[in-house]
Amino acid sequence: MGSLVQPEEHLKNIHVFMVSFPGQGHVNPLLRLGKRLADFGLFITFSAPEAAGLSIRKANNIADDEPVPLGRGMIRFEFFDDGWDFNNPNRNDLQNYLAQLELAGREKLPQMILKQSAQGRPVSCLINNPFIPWVSDVAESLKIPSAMLWVQSCACFSVYYHFYHKTVPFPSENDLEIDVQLPFLPLLKHDEIPSFLHPKTPYPFLGKAILGQCKNLSKPFCILMDTFQELEREIIEYMSKICRPIKTIGPLFKDLKSNITSSKENAIRADFFTAENCVEWLDSKPPQSVVYISFGSIVHLKQEQIDEIAHGLLLAGVLFLWVLRPPQPMESEAEPHVLPEGFLGRVGDKGKILRWAPQEEVLAHPSTACFVTHCGWNSTMEAVASGVPVVAFPRWGDQVTDAKFLVDVFKVGVRLCRGEAEGRIVTRDEVARCLTAAIGGPEAAEMRENAQKWKRAAEEAVAEGGSSYRNMEEFVHEVARIGG
Ligand code: UDP
Repeated sequence: MGSLVQPEEHLKNIHVFMVSFPGQGHVNPLLRLGKRLADFGLFITFSAPEAAGLSIRKANNIADDEPVPLGRGMIRFEFFDDGWDFNNPNRNDLQNYLAQLELAGREKLPQMILKQSAQGRPVSCLINNPFIPWVSDVAESLKIPSAMLWVQSCACFSVYYHFYHKTVPFPSENDLEIDVQLPFLPLLKHDEIPSFLHPKTPYPFLGKAILGQCKNLSKPFCILMDTFQELEREIIEYMSKICRPIKTIGPLFKDLKSNITSSKENAIRADFFTAENCVEWLDSKPPQSVVYISFGSIVHLKQEQIDEIAHGLLLAGVLFLWVLRPPQPMESEAEPHVLPEGFLGRVGDKGKILRWAPQEEVLAHPSTACFVTHCGWNSTMEAVASGVPVVAFPRWGDQVTDAKFLVDVFKVGVRLCRGEAEGRIVTRDEVARCLTAAIGGPEAAEMRENAQKWKRAAEEAVAEGGSSYRNMEEFVHEVARIGG
């Protein structure tokens, strides 16, 4: 297949319509994919419920339906009303929200898509992300090809797939602690499978929402994944054989520097410790000396755990950048965190607290020594692709499986707590011990060497001619062929 160094003229008429669930972990990778496809010369519509729309619009200062140039193509945004009342007392009820979203989306999406045809921009392909598998039904009813962007690892995809098809025993009420062995995956203990699949999960509806995607897997002509072949080769090849063709196109975060951002990526600019002074502060520190701590956009730790991390940092005496995210409007029960009395005074210039960090820049910075992470898949990919060792501190969902891979398979991390300790508070001594080991212990050099190896592999994958780049090219040509 020829390279797409120059966009072919006909690609400008290929219209990819993306529909995202309105969660940060969903919007970010889909929007990044949109940017990549636009860079190949395609016309992109990015659509999501208003909840995501408000902040994306504000962040980018773009009016609805106003196509703007992006890379070699164009992008426009169109948001729709999901009919959900965020002022009602049950606003956090995801289960009911998903049903409401489906109802609204099944009615509104066809209208939006048909309007595009009427305006001379017929849609060539629909792409959705998890939690909204009915988008493939809408595509089918309109005779438009569809694809799905899976936003977790291929290993987790395999676990959900095998759970859904009941191919091997999983933990059940009768046997809570059974281990799970799947082809080309290491043996997963009961607390290493995505926790939403465990019978004791407090969030069974999240497992159900993700499994919903397995139900509709015959419909997308291709599954796109934000991972890369070199990282999960055997699992990807195997799942491609038994399920649907998988195209790995990651790490998506290594994208072109455009002005289009999602809300949080932009919100940092308005925060008290800004992107600029955060990077300046890192500039003032020695190479590989700073511990970066962030638990993503959803995890909210107990106050006691925050206290122990703070004391652990003091005990270890390390330099640190720590993201303490204030609770979001959706987190009605979460209290803002408080730091131990006198903590900031004792820390002085050795540490900085942020409400939101420019994570990609922080991970890419030469002063960053290691990343204390909850192991969300985006953070996992960002760490691996930046060559930074991790201290794994998973809480739930796929994070526990990602932590297993970071430590035992990719060999770039140490584990701060085990899954069964989800409810347990990890003590300051454990925190200090782990940080010291990750920065300067005998394992640290080996972890960094492995991390650097993955960084190089990730860069090669997305560079022209690399595995992810070629897959993206093939995807673009396939869409042009079947939907153009
Ligand atoms: N992130 C960021 N700054 C922060 C915290 C998180 O930019 O201070 C970004 C991070 O780079 C990642 C995303 O937010 O892209 C979090 O996604 P992830 O899958 O790691 O976790 P989730 O928020 O879905 O639990």
